[in-house]
Amino acid sequence: MKKVIAIDGPAGAGKSTIAKALAEKLGYIYIDTGAMYRTVALLAQEQGVAVDDAAALTDIAGKAEITMRVEGGQNRIILNGRDVTEAIRKPEVGAAASPVSAVPGVREHLVAAQRKLAAHGCVVMDGRDIGTVVLPDADCKIYLTASLDERVQRRYDELCAKGIQTTREGVREDISTRDYRDSHRETSPLKQAEDAVYLDSTGLGIPEVLSRALALAEAE
Ligand code: C5P
Repeated sequence: MKKVIAIDGPAGAGKSTIAKALAEKLGYIYIDTGAMYRTVALLAQEQGVAVDDAAALTDIAGKAEITMRVEGGQNRIILNGRDVTEAIRKPEVGAAASPVSAVPGVREHLVAAQRKLAAHGCVVMDGRDIGTVVLPDADCKIYLTASLDERVQRRYDELCAKGIQTTREGVREDISTRDYRDSHRETSPLKQAEDAVYLDSTGLGIPEVLSRALALAEAE
């Protein structure tokens, strides 16, 4: 049985859904690293800090105490004692998380925190650089993706279900911009680790993707 599972991929690929379900099946801890970058972006917005103010953003990331806990089957994100689970899902926070995450100082603080969270093993961690940078020795690495059309539709449905008003065009613009920036930044760009398994979920339902991920996690 694998102890540390890394799942990377572009926006809207279904990483959190699969990582969370996989962690539940295996009795592992699920760590959503995107939520950590979103939390720093939320704090920056609240404090009026610009997304290109590297020094102030690094300072915010260094001081933020981000913890996660599962409540009623839902992953709650707690920032300095405050539940920010819903606040960080707003599209404007996701859009700001992308430039914020390109700041090397922000990544240094959050990567250190992520490694600490994974130190005891039995974790499923998802993000953009988990298999390449955060946990290069992970026992199982999956690069999860899907076509842009399908990722747009999934993210659109997810936002609608949460009552967040948006359009498919808006979601497409957001996802494309973020993917481009995330895969072209200098520090830890989004890319498939050499030893990661490429899993294209286009046209597949959640149970199918989950069973493939589970098979990979359980393979010797
Ligand atoms: O996964 P999610 O969409 O919540 O991530 C929000 C943003 O955080 C991404 O667009 C990306 O810029 C950043 N991120 C990152 N590295 C990670 C996880 C997320 O740069 N490991």
